[in-house]
Amino acid sequence: MHKADPPSRRDFLAAGLAGASAGILPGVPSAAAAASEATENAATTVKVRYDELLPYEFRKRLAERPIAYLPLGTLEWHGEHLPLGSDAIQSEGLMVQCARRFGGIVMPPIHLGPDRAKPTDGGMMLVGMDYAESTTPPRQLDGSCYWVPAGFHLLMVDAILAQLKRAGFRAVFADGHGPSRSSWVENLPERQARFGLKLFGVTRDIGRQWKSQVDHAARNETSLMMHLRPGLVDLSQLPSARSTWPQGVAGEDPRDATAAYGKECLEKSVELVRQMFAQAGLL
Ligand SMILES: [Zn+2]
Repeated sequence: MHKADPPSRRDFLAAGLAGASAGILPGVPSAAAAASEATENAATTVKVRYDELLPYEFRKRLAERPIAYLPLGTLEWHGEHLPLGSDAIQSEGLMVQCARRFGGIVMPPIHLGPDRAKPTDGGMMLVGMDYAESTTPPRQLDGSCYWVPAGFHLLMVDAILAQLKRAGFRAVFADGHGPSRSSWVENLPERQARFGLKLFGVTRDIGRQWKSQVDHAARNETSLMMHLRPGLVDLSQLPSARSTWPQGVAGEDPRDATAAYGKECLEKSVELVRQMFAQAGLL
């Protein structure tokens, strides 16, 4: 979903359309099939990422739907089988889908976030999943590199909201990394009043039905990653014996993950975002 089809494929489709016998010769798509494929390609290549837009594209998208999406990411251990930036990949992936369907612009993800932390007797600091029940013994998990104090994160998000307001946005949806999601949701009403923006997040009510990033590197997150970026997932890195639980993984067994389940979870959450926006009169 990050790349347009290579020119060779586009050329092939164009040739198929131009061919007088389209739909008759085996292997040559019918005009209708090619047109529908072309529409699909347009839908998957439309630019919605803030950093990729030219000013006229930005003005157009902002005028059509002044909604910003803020992916809350991390650089955090997500098991041996998922990339360290899994949180931002998933939250951004969801938001790109939302922006393509409902309008709006997707901000670059924030890769810094708050999390629980505690010092050890040995003078180390353990963060987040370092001392989860599934990490035995508790230890610094490889690759985690995201933690900032909660107060710093609040200030950083405040600064982003002030800039989004100044740029002309009227609504912001943010979600992603668990502790960042909690911080965002806890402060929604106060920030909404302070910035005069309509703010959306995965509140407790929505959380009951929400299906995106609802575990840690387990079946849900692994399935979402298999749907969004299959080339970045390597299930062979997990212990093959089912009796051995993967380190620093919390939730249902990631060895049961499938891309199809990931797509289903993503679609359910995209629909919930649509409902949130519709209820607020934004669509
Ligand atoms: Zn995660």
